[in-house]
Amino acid sequence: MIPPGETIGILGGGQLGRMIALAAAQLGYRCHVFAPEADSIAADVCAGFTQGSYDDTAALSAFAADCAVVTYEFENVAAGPLAAIGPLAPLYPPARALEVAQDRVSEKRFVEALGGRPAAWATVDSPADLAAAIACIGAPGVLKTRRDGYDGKGQWRIGSAAQAAALDLPPVPLIYEGFVTFFGEFSVILVRGQDGTIAFWDSAQNEHEGGILARSTVPAPARIEAQVGEARALAGKVADALDYVGVLTLEFFATQDGPVFNEMAPRVHNSGHWTIEGALTSQFENHVRAICGLPLGATALAAKGAVMDNLIGDAAHDWPAILSNPANHLHLYGKAAARPGRKMGHVTRLVL
Ligand code: AMP
Repeated sequence: MIPPGETIGILGGGQLGRMIALAAAQLGYRCHVFAPEADSIAADVCAGFTQGSYDDTAALSAFAADCAVVTYEFENVAAGPLAAIGPLAPLYPPARALEVAQDRVSEKRFVEALGGRPAAWATVDSPADLAAAIACIGAPGVLKTRRDGYDGKGQWRIGSAAQAAALDLPPVPLIYEGFVTFFGEFSVILVRGQDGTIAFWDSAQNEHEGGILARSTVPAPARIEAQVGEARALAGKVADALDYVGVLTLEFFATQDGPVFNEMAPRVHNSGHWTIEGALTSQFENHVRAICGLPLGATALAAKGAVMDNLIGDAAHDWPAILSNPANHLHLYGKAAARPGRKMGHVTRLVL
């Protein structure tokens, strides 16, 4: 057990790290952020900051030497150099979770082996592979980079074989997925403690705009709720198979044939931000509790429901209007420039 007063290391300097650090501070921990950018919004609320590259093993070792435990808020970190952390501080969630989740092919294979059902998929490394994938799976579909994609980046909707043939493929490994006809999207967010205990939060219905999460709502409509049991069973198997510690997220499409696995994130997740006010214990606090070996907090709803809206780009400039409604819980991440598509904050309203 890592007692309050110790230092938690966080790889990644964005809003997820910032909210982990705020929860850690509430429990009496210090945090130390390791991130490549000079102006980390997570470091702004932390006691320590190392600006370093994720493949700089000497810098990672020096960072880990200052930490009692290390976690990450960003999964696109090469797993190899993280071996430098192991001898100095435990890394939670385990590096294996990072390896599986950072490649869309390995995460699909992993989940399929446990009985999960993703969209039809095929690896694509050349135009000929793409033509073959479309011939086999059909169109429409979605072409995605296997690694480093987030918020709809590194994705191309493919309407037909002719459209695919005209594409200039980027020189990176890709995956083609058949287009899933869904009536909703939802996520399963769980926390697994060091003793293997698992707790789930209510599943939110997630609405995306332009590939970016726009809104999460709990409770989800009944026809999505009806699919949560099966999705939780899969998520629990994934967590056990990885000997996972911390918060884990799996995203699903709700279809007429049941839940179709989309992707997983070995970390706290945007679709769980509503838990800060809407659940008895937030995803951030329970992540800290799990990685430090503390007992987990209750995950039940703290109200009848909650709605979380992301503030993307210029929407964050509306903060005075948002605050003029006293029921709104405003979170701004402290980012300097409100570029289009950039997550600047979120606002949560409880249903009382
Ligand atoms: P992802 O980054 O893979 O979660 O994709 C972002 C969003 O694009 C998803 O939440 C869906 O709204 C949409 N999307 C991604 N893959 C598919 C698919 N195979 N079929 C239908 N919609 C998809």
